Amino acid sequence: MIELIDTHAHLDDEQFAADLPVVLQRASAAGVAKILTIATTAASSSACIALAERHVMLSAVVGLHPNSIVEADATAWDNIVAAAGHPCVVGIGETGLDRHWNNTPFAIQEEYFVRHLELSRRSACPAVIHCREAEADMLRVLRDDYDRFGPISGVMHSFVGDTNMAEACRAMGLYLSFAGMLTYKNAAALRATAAQQPLDRVLVETDSPYLAPVPHRGKRNEPAHVVHTAACLAELLGVSPERLAEQTTINAQRLFEI
Ligand SMILES: [Zn+2]
Repeated sequence: MIELIDTHAHLDDEQFAADLPVVLQRASAAGVAKILTIATTAASSSACIALAERHVMLSAVVGLHPNSIVEADATAWDNIVAAAGHPCVVGIGETGLDRHWNNTPFAIQEEYFVRHLELSRRSACPAVIHCREAEADMLRVLRDDYDRFGPISGVMHSFVGDTNMAEACRAMGLYLSFAGMLTYKNAAALRATAAQQPLDRVLVETDSPYLAPVPHRGKRNEPAHVVHTAACLAELLGVSPERLAEQTTINAQRLFEI
């Protein structure tokens, strides 16, 4: 029996409002032992904590997604800082930089990203980092943090960068998490990058309800589907699905102290 951890799912999303208990049962049946439910706003941070209090297989990650900062009110950041101390919280995020959806001005995204990195260090909770079409800026901010404070505890979630990006992130202490995109037909370059990563630095995730892996592509994604991404990654790394599950679970437990 394999045991996997889905390190990134948005279970407070309204798409799960009607059937979350059944979704969690299917995850358990598929071998998913633990799921991190990742917040995007202050309200979502409270919702993720409430879910983690209710369901023992969930832990919460709290923060403001770069695309949602633009809607945040004056108290949002204070709420995140307060939420970081909750016993169900194991990480800070998701935070990061996004030039694809430029709804939050980039300078403000960057300011909040730095704040999240600081909170991550202060609360000893790893950072869950989103990077979309902003690799150069991402490396600049991470390197500045690394140069001043040392290795960064965190994960590049739904990693889609190239080999150089992967190496630079790993050198600063970060883990790389692969999502359903790894299984897509047009993702040969990403698979080639994934195939070169050391087994002790990779994680798997779904990013539910988004970006379902093949053969569920186009439908609502859910944590049970992490098995398809894990199987793909196992094949790329030349290990059995059992070995991949074992090591990615150890990696997630080590990073998030879960
Ligand atoms: Zn996400």
